[in-house]
Order: sequence, then C-alpha cells, then structure tokens
Amino acid sequence: MAGILAKTATKLVHHGREPERHGGVVNVPVYHTSTILFPDYADCEKAFLGTLDRTIYARYGTETRDALAEMLREMEGAAATVVTSSGLSAVVVALMTALKAGDHALIPDSVYGSARQFCDDELKRFGVEIEYYDPLIGGEIAARFKPNTRVLYLESPGSLTFEIQDLEPMIAAAKARNITTLMDNTWATPLYYQPLAHGIDFSIHSATKYIAGHSDLMMGVVSCNAAHAKALKRTYHHLAPCPGPDDCYLAQRGLRTLAVRLEHQARQAKALAEWLAARPEVVEVRHPALPDAPGHALWKRTFSGASGLFAVALKPYSKAAISAMVDSMQLFKMGFSWGGYESLILPFQPAKVRTVSQFPADQFFLRLSIGLEDLDDLKADLEQGFTRANAVR
Ligand SMILES: *Cc1c(COP(=O)(O)O)cnc(C)c1O
Repeated sequence: MAGILAKTATKLVHHGREPERHGGVVNVPVYHTSTILFPDYADCEKAFLGTLDRTIYARYGTETRDALAEMLREMEGAAATVVTSSGLSAVVVALMTALKAGDHALIPDSVYGSARQFCDDELKRFGVEIEYYDPLIGGEIAARFKPNTRVLYLESPGSLTFEIQDLEPMIAAAKARNITTLMDNTWATPLYYQPLAHGIDFSIHSATKYIAGHSDLMMGVVSCNAAHAKALKRTYHHLAPCPGPDDCYLAQRGLRTLAVRLEHQARQAKALAEWLAARPEVVEVRHPALPDAPGHALWKRTFSGASGLFAVALKPYSKAAISAMVDSMQLFKMGFSWGGYESLILPFQPAKVRTVSQFPADQFFLRLSIGLEDLDDLKADLEQGFTRANAVR
C-alpha cells in the first residue's frame, strides 16, 4: 500500500482526506468553528495541561486545516508543517522561529520584497543584524559568516530577477557552522524541488501562488525537519496567523490539480521564453530552462522542472513606451501575485529595488506569469504590445 501511495501524482490525489471518517464524503468538509467541545472534564483538564492528543481550539487547528497541512507535510517530506494566512506570514513565522536578538542573518539581495521590508522594519527593531548578500555568491558565503550568524536565507530563483543560487556549497558551509538554512521555495513548488531532502532546515511557500492556483486566496506554508519541529509549532501558535477554513479548503482543492496545471503552464512558459529570445525588443531572457540563460547548468542540477514564471530584460525603452505596451494588453493583465490560471505581466526596474547586485539605472524588465490561455493568443498579445512600445520608444 505504501508503495502505491509513494508517487507524487498519486499523493496529490489521495493524501490529506479520509472519506470513511466523514460519512463517505470525498473531500474534507469545511469546519467553520472556534470552539471544539470536550466530552468531559478529564479531557478538558488534559487540554489545559497540553496533553490532549487532538485539536482543542480552532486556533490550534481544525480538521479542514490539518488535512491541508498534513498533505503538504507529506509532499515536503517534513517533520512538521504549518499553514499560515499568507506567504509573507510564512516567511515571518520561519524567521521568528530561527532568530533571536543579537543574531546575524544573511539574506539574498534578490529576496521577495515584502520579506526584505520585514527584515528591515521589524527584525532589526528586535535586535537582529541583517546583511544582504549577492545571490550568486555560492560557497563564498562562508566568508560572510560571523560568530553570531544564525540564519542563511535562500531563495532560488531570486524574486523578479531569477538568479539561480548554487545551493549545495551554501548548504554545506552553513551546516559546517551549525547555521540554520531557510529557503523560499515558492517558484519550484514541492514538485520541482524539495529543500528538506537536500539538507535545508526550513522550506517556505506562498501557497497564494501555484498551490492555490486560482488567484482567489492568500496562504502560506512552512515546513521543517525534526530538529526544528518543536520550535516551529511553538512560534506558529504564538504568532497565530491562522487561515480560515474556506481558504484551507480551496488551497487543498488547488493542490489536487497542481501537477497538471504546472506541467502545462511550464510547457507554455518555456515555449514563450524561446519565442521572446528571438524578439528584437528583448536583450535577455531569464528563464532557467533555456540553455543560454544564466544559471541554466545549476538549474538543471538542482530542480526537476521550471514553473511558469520568468522575466525578460528589454532594450532601452522610455517609461511612456512601457506604459503604451502594458496599459492596453488584452490577456496579460498587470498585478502582483502569480501562479494563477490567468497570465500576468509586471514591468519593473531592478536597479530601484536592489542594494548589492548591479543593474543598468533605467533598464526595464518584464516579469511574466504564464497561464492556461492559448499559446498563440498569448504571443499575439505580446507582439501587439511590443508594436505599441516601438511606436513610442
Ligand atoms: C508572493 C510571494 C511571497 C509572499 O506571499 P503572499 O502570499 O503574497 O504573502 C513570498 N515569496 C515569494 C517568492 C513570493 O512570490
């Protein structure tokens, strides 16, 4: 039985539900509750003392939320997994679990923007020393370790600019110094990379993206190995970023179809990236599955797939030209988030958000999240957009 349930596609369908416990109902029901009643004082007393072996209050879990967490724990091969009310709250829970006042944390310059703001505005306020490092530093990260370094944060590819990190020597260097490693694994999903299996201590996801997959909710996930399980559960219960039951239900429904959505979106994204590489408007395509892309060899060694999010660097355009392009797109709409069924476009200027890596001052990039639309329609939308941009320059 265990053998039959071991493969990912089967896990996605069969884990995290027990129809026989719910009168044969295929999906786990949505439990709207705060209170979970005790049958007698004996159980109530155990709940007070923390020795009752079941959920005692909805803040600590419900069957709806626990089923989602258990499914994700399986996918990540984790000792403990908690689900939170957003991807950012997952980052916060993981960092607060691993750090205390006086510690030094190494954060990649390509870290997700709101995580960076949390480090700068909150962690520093609580006495944590924050240092940003070049995401491409690789094994040379060891030279940045100080006696008080407690956390090495990883995110590969980097947010917006898609740097592929040389994870292996970084993990080894951190391990040699007993430094805790955390990775934001949102881009790869649990299907294309398993941080814990590679010796990383914490895996973080914004489940708002591919896991939920339908642009209809906010959710985060933190998973960790046995050494950190108790601490993760403690900090999670204290910060208490509990997602609601409807969102947990929808996230689990999204997770059921993750493999098919991702495979199709990945195929479409690669085809579009190849098409964009041949466009005169594009000077660089940052899609790691393209043989000429920066970090391609590292990506191939590390990941078992590339999802549907990538970026292109454009030849020089004015802000007016970029506006002419993106303001009138028919399919690629502009907005934060990604990983939904619909395609999105996001223009940005890396030089404005980075402090370590160097980018030309006025250069525009476009980040593209590829959805489930027809590929030729997506190309036509981009082609018309480039025509509008070229008319303005
Ligand atoms: C979106 C995102 C987050 C934050 O997730 P939210 O659900 O929006 O809070 C964290 N990391 C990465 C890489 C993201 O893209």
